[in-house]
Amino acid sequence: MRARIPWVGARFARSLGVAIALGLSACSATTDRYAPEPLRDAPDLTYALTLETSPKRLVRIEVGVAGANDGITEFALDEGFGGVTNAGSEFVQPEASDDRGSPLQVERPAPHRFIVRHAPGSHVTLRYTLPETAPKTPFVESGHYRPFLTASLLHLIGDVALVAPRHLDSGTSRVIELTFSGFSNAGWQGATSFRTDLEPTRVRESIGAFRHSVIVAGDVDVDVGTVRGRAVAVAMQRGVFGFASDEFAGRVRRIVELQRAYFEDDDAPYFLVSAIAVGAASENSFSAGGTGLTQSFAAFLPPGAAFRVDTDEAKLIDVLLAHEMAHHWIGGRVAVKAPEAEHFWFSEGFTDFVARRVLADAGLLTRAQSIDELNATLVEYHANPEKNAPASRIADAFWSDPNIGDLPYQRGNLVAIVVDHAIRTRTAGKNSLDDLLRELVRDAKARPLVVDTDDLLLRISAWAGADVAQRVRAMVVGGATVELDPATYAPTLRYVAGDPPQFVDAAGEPSP
Ligand SMILES: [Zn+2]
Repeated sequence: MRARIPWVGARFARSLGVAIALGLSACSATTDRYAPEPLRDAPDLTYALTLETSPKRLVRIEVGVAGANDGITEFALDEGFGGVTNAGSEFVQPEASDDRGSPLQVERPAPHRFIVRHAPGSHVTLRYTLPETAPKTPFVESGHYRPFLTASLLHLIGDVALVAPRHLDSGTSRVIELTFSGFSNAGWQGATSFRTDLEPTRVRESIGAFRHSVIVAGDVDVDVGTVRGRAVAVAMQRGVFGFASDEFAGRVRRIVELQRAYFEDDDAPYFLVSAIAVGAASENSFSAGGTGLTQSFAAFLPPGAAFRVDTDEAKLIDVLLAHEMAHHWIGGRVAVKAPEAEHFWFSEGFTDFVARRVLADAGLLTRAQSIDELNATLVEYHANPEKNAPASRIADAFWSDPNIGDLPYQRGNLVAIVVDHAIRTRTAGKNSLDDLLRELVRDAKARPLVVDTDDLLLRISAWAGADVAQRVRAMVVGGATVELDPATYAPTLRYVAGDPPQFVDAAGEPSP
């Protein structure tokens, strides 16, 4: 469910000079805001954020919960989330108090852990402070996922900003409250994964799902519209990009619409996309990233990013949006078991496949661009010195070795093509990988679905045949080279054998 940096640098060099047909806003009806139905039940867990601007700018986070029965309550952030190390190191001045307001000692054995001792049964409040953060180098050591507070922006991903009480199971549904103070006084606007403003929210969610969310506030434009009858909001940092917020929101909603149609799922009542600027603009590279979260995703784009049609930039932004949106289903509704990286061939590679297919079918990728994307994947995969690394190595080194980090995207994308072709062949074109993925989503709507490689191979076996499942196992578990059938795209595309193999457009070529 977490994205690595999808592209850095090199891909931008493959400039095509092809104008992309712009899909304008997918909807005409707009709403001003979205807020969930208010819950009357007392909260099990509260998070209160306070913005102070004097004497120094800071955000105080206060977490309240009934303490553990044994009188030792531990709160923790997710060390390692999205490759973040030393999670919590931005936060200072941890303090705690009991239900009478008496101070309690806080032990901090690691930056991400806070241990509070209290009378058994007491309510416990933990407070910690986020001072202004230094500008971070983007996309290095997952810096863009870290808590971020500047003179005009707060950006928090809950996994590494909102502590979880460890004595409460993170998967059980609970009433959780989120409140903000001092933000409107400072003229700050914002949105969260739960509503389109900073008014008090009380939702019923598991602690895990609640924390797997984004909070963005400050100089932020919140554009609220609807897609297929459901609210879709875009919270975009103001004045940093080369596009207006309504232009960006229109692109986002077009892609949300395409993905919902693809997965045949309009159940989400609300969806938020946040976009903030990270790093510096560059003439000859384009670095972007994102991460899929609870009914939302967070996007990170370079300052000045625009839908330029003279370069690949418009395409790269569309592909990023389509990839992150597909995570709502692949990796989200259809979750993968731990260790997650062992299953990234599915949750990242199949997501890349779906992004390309959805954009191409809608004409947001031209035929030439689709072929280029396919060939680029073949080039990058065959050039990857870790091409034959087994799944166990990906689980170990995904975040530490860039070649290993790229591998499940490349391998999984090509495996998706193998499975898609096999299903099409077996069903004489009646079915495709799309049907397998929609079946997974349908099942996930009936009951929570968390899959591993064996579960997925069973599905592949049922749709594509046991022989294909056996081949896929060798690729995704053992690291066997993914070979595409030369007939995969015949007669539309001609296969050119080589290292790497490539596909060329057969249209206009003389018949053999
Ligand atoms: Zn991803």
